[in-house]
Amino acid sequence: MKLVIAAAALLMVSCAGPGGGGSTRDTWGHRAGPRGFRTVVLDAGHGGRDSGARSGVTGALEKDLTMDMVQRVKRELGGSFAVRMMREDDRFVDLDERAARAAAMGDVLVSIHFNSGPSSVRGPETYYWRVDSHGLAVRMQRGMAAVSPAENGSRGMVRRRLRLTRNPEIPCVLIEVGYLSNPGEARLCSDAGYRQRMAKAVADAIRGQAAQGDAGTGMLPPPIFAPPSRPTDAKE
Ligand SMILES: [Zn+2]
Repeated sequence: MKLVIAAAALLMVSCAGPGGGGSTRDTWGHRAGPRGFRTVVLDAGHGGRDSGARSGVTGALEKDLTMDMVQRVKRELGGSFAVRMMREDDRFVDLDERAARAAAMGDVLVSIHFNSGPSSVRGPETYYWRVDSHGLAVRMQRGMAAVSPAENGSRGMVRRRLRLTRNPEIPCVLIEVGYLSNPGEARLCSDAGYRQRMAKAVADAIRGQAAQGDAGTGMLPPPIFAPPSRPTDAKE
């Protein structure tokens, strides 16, 4: 009996229509990307006792740069969207709590991070998992790559099951603006003008998705039935 119910639930999900009308909320996100949405959740990565990456080059902390970025993106979005902030100050918010809160807060979630890795690697990256997040991810990565003056060994756009790409019940992407471990990119990320250009690229990606849906972002990836991500799955 339980199996039958599960199968029926899967069928209902796979029959969900394309985005654009009504709610963007569903567990799997196996549908086209949203269009016409008005409420955006911005998540400044890390915070409080969790500083995230620290640049050995500039000393900048990821949690401070992410907070600066969400404020810039919010200003860029102006009055055309209702913007909800996952955190507004330097406080710790658990990843699972962020994922759980997101769907009640808005229509799409954009989580902003800065990267760390080998010192030679540089370039923005965008992570997504849900089918309905693909178009927004393409727009994010395109926009940030156009601002970034150089890339080396970075992953670009990646479909990865993270707690903030699989678990929220709304379209969601996690962006890594740049590598704080790369001397050149770390200096750029500490430059307010550069962060402003990146923030505009992020806001433009959101505006583009809301106006055009997935148009011009390529074929949707296949749906994957994978359970919610766990703390042990991958580092964010
Ligand atoms: Zn991070």
